[in-house]
Amino acid sequence: MTACGRCRSRVWWAVNERTGNRMILDDQQVADGNVVVCGQAGDGTPVVRVLTRAELDESTPMLPGLEPVAPAAALEDRPRYQAHQVTCGRAAVPA
Ligand SMILES: [Zn+2]
Repeated sequence: MTACGRCRSRVWWAVNERTGNRMILDDQQVADGNVVVCGQAGDGTPVVRVLTRAELDESTPMLPGLEPVAPAAALEDRPRYQAHQVTCGRAAVPA
């Protein structure tokens, strides 16, 4: 566990499955988060998938010819997180 250098919130690092970029996630799970852990890199860093709108909402039609990377049903039970950049600075700073 690590702390954000700017707001001191508890955060953790992960690697985006699709881009390979490192990203910072909030420590807390959120019900409507769009990030799920789907694996682990060789150095132990969690690998995450950032869900697209179509994957989050099955009622949203995918573009013709596109298939979901994973069935939404396979992801819906996983804990959801959100990128820390969304909330950085908004949470109360711990005393
Ligand atoms: Zn922060």
